Amino acid sequence: MTLRSKLLASPAPLAVVLVLLGVTSVKTLRSLGQSPELILKDNYRSVLAAERMIDAVSGLQEIALAAAASRERETSADALRRVFEAELSTQEHNITEPGEQEATSRLRELWDQYRSAFDSTRALPPGQRLSGYFDTLQPLAVELRRTIHDILDLNQDAMARKSDQARSAAQRNVDLVVVATLVALFFGLVSTLALTARLLRPLGVLSQTVRRIAQGDLEARARVFGKDEIAALAQEFNAMADRLSEYRRSSLGELLQAQQASQAAIDSLPDPVLVLDAGGAIINLNGAAEEVLRLGSAPQISALEPELREVVDRVRQHVAAGRGPYLPKGFDEAVRVGTPEGYRHLLPRATPLYSEDSGIVGVTIVLQDVTRLMRFDELKNDLVATVAHEFRTPLTSLRMAIHLLAEEVVGPLTDKQADLISAARDECERLQGIVDDLLDLSRIQAGRMELRVERLDAGALLTSAFDALRAQADEAGISLQVEEPAAESAVRADPERVALVLSNLLGNAIRHTPRGGEIVLRAREAGGAERFEVSDTGAGIPPEHQERIFDKFYRVPGERGGGVGLGLYISREIVQAHGGDMGVSSVPGKGSTFWFTLPRTEAARTATATR
Ligand code: ADP
Repeated sequence: MTLRSKLLASPAPLAVVLVLLGVTSVKTLRSLGQSPELILKDNYRSVLAAERMIDAVSGLQEIALAAAASRERETSADALRRVFEAELSTQEHNITEPGEQEATSRLRELWDQYRSAFDSTRALPPGQRLSGYFDTLQPLAVELRRTIHDILDLNQDAMARKSDQARSAAQRNVDLVVVATLVALFFGLVSTLALTARLLRPLGVLSQTVRRIAQGDLEARARVFGKDEIAALAQEFNAMADRLSEYRRSSLGELLQAQQASQAAIDSLPDPVLVLDAGGAIINLNGAAEEVLRLGSAPQISALEPELREVVDRVRQHVAAGRGPYLPKGFDEAVRVGTPEGYRHLLPRATPLYSEDSGIVGVTIVLQDVTRLMRFDELKNDLVATVAHEFRTPLTSLRMAIHLLAEEVVGPLTDKQADLISAARDECERLQGIVDDLLDLSRIQAGRMELRVERLDAGALLTSAFDALRAQADEAGISLQVEEPAAESAVRADPERVALVLSNLLGNAIRHTPRGGEIVLRAREAGGAERFEVSDTGAGIPPEHQERIFDKFYRVPGERGGGVGLGLYISREIVQAHGGDMGVSSVPGKGSTFWFTLPRTEAARTATATR
């Protein structure tokens, strides 16, 4: 059955009930209409006949009395007799009530007697007619009237009774119609509601299934049977749900595969990898992390060694704060961790995990095992230190010998010999500088840089640096200037080390400034510290090299002469050991300004504050 037919059929019970009600009402109304008709038909004619017969008898009596009083009324007597006859005959054919038959038969008898008495009275001689009238005719007329009245009463009673019956029948019918209406309404409504509920049930099942699927239960199906449009819709819907769950199964499979692939990828890394959520809980880790960090089946940050835990936390906070990936600056940041195979040095580096809306949802931390690299580094440092140390004694002898030769202590030199000795002396000095740098480097790397800090005047530091390198500047044709500090300013520093820093910066400036250029040395208070600057009008440094020139052994490519790229590294290490900082600002082709800061003494700070 189609939905359309079902919808059309749903008010059918109500319609059937209405039809039944209509039929009952029509029947009732018709029977009500027929009751007065029956009363008229059955009794009213008898009443009419009786009244007409009474009138006829009265007329006849008048005629008989008139005749008795010698007045003739022949014709009207016949007419009245015919009327009576006709009405009597009507009555005889209209017997409806019990007792009416007997009264009518008696009436016929009395009529026959009256008629013959009427004729015989009229036949009497005029003198006897009056007594005949009163003796015979009058009693018969009385009797006739009484009998007619009996019939009249019988019919009038019947009329009254039937009228009562009709009224009560009408009342009964009204009651019946009301009851029938109520019953019909009840059954009609109940059956219509039941049919509508039956019709809507599949829709309910369908909408419940839709809700379950919307909540993620893709296995839910609509159990709707039949051949109507809703059943067809349910079948289509189930087919769609089948395809959806198949799709989810396949995409879930792909996801699992992708997850296994990425897990296999991080498991293949030899270094421990931890993936943390934004709150710091471990959400994934690789085999190396489980093994090296001895994290069990339910890995937790709290299970890490305290030092490593502190480093992991710091690195995670750096990345989670949105400061970008964390890259270690050197092996100094490596953490020593005890593992089943002995101690290892792990260097942390971290990258953020982004959500779809570019928010940071986690951090990937790689703990690079740098144990072997650090061993190589140590070996290299040892080698550098040993070589530098071993170079020192022969270099000193060499410099002494060259010095004696150059000073002609052992005999005069030809011009040619003097030139060669001068060149050898320069190279020896350069070699001495390299050896000094290498020794400084090994000292720094061994953490053996001891500072002998004392109160130093900033202006005096500049002047002594100026004095030490003035000759070199003059020789190079460069103007060297000192801008004395505006007032006395003192710093706390190791004089030898600071002199080395200034001489490195000044030496570099002289080397990179062409003849006719200018170098200015200055010192001033900046941000609570003393800021020293060495500005030159030299070649300048391309921006991409400006930060790297402070790295160990870094030289701008194409550079000739000078040292081995350690001067700025050592200088910055010295300045940082004092609690200061070092940097450069440079415009290629125009010159460079190298600056460094040193902490001021308490007295210097107070002096500045009151100035
Ligand atoms: P080196 O002792 O070999 O000169 P440094 O560490 O002192 O090494 O300097 C590193 C590099 O920085 C140099 O090779 C040079 O290219 C560049 N540099 C340093 N000072 C200056 C300067 N004043 N002007 C231009 N380049 C400079």
